[in-house]
Amino acid sequence: MILQDKIALVTGSGSGIGQAVAELFAQEGAWVILLGRTQSKLEETSDRITQRGGRATIVPLDLENSLNRVPEVAKALYERFGHLDTLVNNAGILGTLTPLDHYDTILWEQVMRVNVTAPFFLTRELMPLLKKSPNASVINVVSTVAFQGRAFWGAYAASKAALANMTETWAGENPRQGVRCNTVNPGATRTAMRRTAYPGEDPATLPTPQEVARVFLYLASDFATDIRGQHLNARDWMTWRQPTDGL
Ligand code: NDP
Repeated sequence: MILQDKIALVTGSGSGIGQAVAELFAQEGAWVILLGRTQSKLEETSDRITQRGGRATIVPLDLENSLNRVPEVAKALYERFGHLDTLVNNAGILGTLTPLDHYDTILWEQVMRVNVTAPFFLTRELMPLLKKSPNASVINVVSTVAFQGRAFWGAYAASKAALANMTETWAGENPRQGVRCNTVNPGATRTAMRRTAYPGEDPATLPTPQEVARVFLYLASDFATDIRGQHLNARDWMTWRQPTDGL
């Protein structure tokens, strides 16, 4: 198994892409820490994992309003596991699709807090645990609008651009060894967030979260030790198979 006995924390793992990534990691032997806002959703993911023989621990935490609890979470993880191999900053919110002229200030700050400040704070606070892993990987989930702003995508586009930029900064500060930091752009994926952004779209035309999860497995694995400060598109990895299948 590709992630045998690795410890991986995935934010927003109660649904959508985060859930699929957490399940894939567990299937590949990782002990997965499920962090998210809604406890019942995390429990559902945990049940799905344990029913298939996987290992998971849930950490209910609101990344908008309870960031002050992150140091306490880091301490608990240190006492239980001693280190962390992978951190996936996946949790995110869309805000509204509104012209900037009319964008609500409070909502702007909420989007920035969940999509940018939380990944920064989690990465910084968990860095001592990540540094205890021989091959640690931080994966930040961005979007196509991170690299090219788009009308009406307001705070979301700005937040993902900031996250992509911050990833390059983390990578620049760990250039050759130590913790590596990269982004994944899932591309349009069949989740609740996508439905909210494109209510008229037929979800059946979109890849599932399970299909886009493969690139996360690659970046978390020891096959990606030289990948640093890169922006990977999940679309390019949808047919990727484990090396045992012939890579
Ligand atoms: P979902 O809305 O399905 O999942 C988002 C997850 O983030 C949920 O589990 C949610 O938990 C969690 N979350 C939101 N706010 C908070 C918070 N304050 N504290 C803790 N957890 C929180 O969306 P996706 O799976 O589609 O999105 C996952 C990532 O992929 C996001 O970063 C998104 O921007 C990105 N992305 C998605 C694309 C798509 O087409 N789906 C395309 C490009 C990027 P809860 O449900 O409990 O609120």
